[in-house]
Amino acid sequence: MSRVARAVIDHAALRHNLAVAREAVAPARVIAVLKANGYGHGLLGVADALREAEAFAVSCLEEALPLREAGFQQRLVLLEGPFTAAELPVFARRQLDAVVHTDWQVAAFEGARLPAPVDVWLKVDTGMGRLGFPPERAAGMAARLAAAPAVGTLRFMTHLACADDREDDTTHRQLELFDEALRGLEGERSIANSAGTLGWHGSHAQWVRPGIMLYGCQPFVDGLPAPALRPTMRLEARLIAVNHHRRGDRIGYGGTFVCPEDMPVGVASIGYGDGYPRHAPNGTPVQIRGRRAGVAGRVSMDMTCIDLRAVPEAEVGDTVVLWGEDPGVEEVAELCGTIGYELYCQVTPRVQRWHQ
Ligand code: PLP
Repeated sequence: MSRVARAVIDHAALRHNLAVAREAVAPARVIAVLKANGYGHGLLGVADALREAEAFAVSCLEEALPLREAGFQQRLVLLEGPFTAAELPVFARRQLDAVVHTDWQVAAFEGARLPAPVDVWLKVDTGMGRLGFPPERAAGMAARLAAAPAVGTLRFMTHLACADDREDDTTHRQLELFDEALRGLEGERSIANSAGTLGWHGSHAQWVRPGIMLYGCQPFVDGLPAPALRPTMRLEARLIAVNHHRRGDRIGYGGTFVCPEDMPVGVASIGYGDGYPRHAPNGTPVQIRGRRAGVAGRVSMDMTCIDLRAVPEAEVGDTVVLWGEDPGVEEVAELCGTIGYELYCQVTPRVQRWHQ
């Protein structure tokens, strides 16, 4: 039996979640966000599952080029790039969309002589406080870009900071600011992340950019009803040992789990070296034989001990589900003081991605 730590990626679930996004925003089009290795799911596999999306977004050239090399022809938006003027000819040759958010990029386009024009999204910072020109500079930058021969079609983008809370007024203010900044300017727009896609109709514009909802996580913190999404990743390991401990025995580094009675403790073939969070506290749920058991003691690099009292018949070789249908990644994330996005992205390369 070889060591098993694998992430099973459910393409039907990815397609379902994309369909939810498309239905929510039609006739607006979807830019499926595939950055960070498809939110940890595996870039090319996810792109294949989501090939119905009209466009993809990634962070940088290193993420974009494998998609072009694999033959994906969709519009491909690089959310932060280009990072240097030397990248512009690659954007032109590979037909990649640039997001322009800072002065040197505008100057670089003005000075560039490219084999083909590059489509540009001018990014406006309406309240995220991260990338983008302040609203009052948007029209000036748009005029300069529109006049540059290296620029093809000019579009506009902003990013929502607080859309995950449907009662937070920030989103209304961001939408107004974006509108004001672009008054009188022609060109398609993109505003919405997953929370905008599902929760803010006024943010749909011509293109939405959902990420986390495609991977099955609710984008909201407000607990209000939301469309059903399907989990896309099942993180699995195997029991590689089952030991019978005495009451009072201590388990793992630091002995932070003390057996409250004589009990079976399993050892699962997964640890923080695979991206399972070291902060998972005692009792963090896992599933074995369709029942919940809990983490016992500190997660180690390659192994995690499991309190098997709820599944006393568990045996070596049994599958341990760390997240998937039950428990969901969001439940695990919350217990670890983080979010599903981070757990997904932390799954390391030694975990096999099984696309099915
Ligand atoms: N657009 C931009 C610019 C982003 O940075 C991200 C992700 O962080 C997204 C869209 C997708 O966001 P979400 O995963 O919350 O849908």
